[in-house]
Amino acid sequence: MPRVPVVCDELQCDLCERFVPRKLITLHHLKPKSRGGTAEHRVPLCKPCHKQIHVTFDNRTLENELSQLEQLRSHPQLERFLKWVRKLAPDKNVATHISGAHPGHRGPRVRIRSRR
Ligand SMILES: [Zn+2]
Ligand SMILES: [Zn+2]
Repeated sequence: MPRVPVVCDELQCDLCERFVPRKLITLHHLKPKSRGGTAEHRVPLCKPCHKQIHVTFDNRTLENELSQLEQLRSHPQLERFLKWVRKLAPDKNVATHISGAHPGHRGPRVRIRSRR
């Protein structure tokens, strides 16, 4: 049986397009007010998505290169995250998934000193 997501307490995330409980929706400003952003530039994002874009990109990048939702949705750095988050239960507020953000730094560095 298909589940119809028309519960009034669920909102759609504009990035992963999941319907999630209202309490997990936050507003992201695609463009800051100071740069001519209006209410239209606010998009509802679920918490995991919102967190993810802010750990993946800095504010300047978001503002200059990713002020369109389409740019975020199709960004290669978010592709894997989106695939992953879409499989999650919508009511789960998950810890941020950082995959390959710093491929060079895996695990704590262990230094082995040679004995003298
Ligand atoms: Zn989302
Ligand atoms: Zn934001």
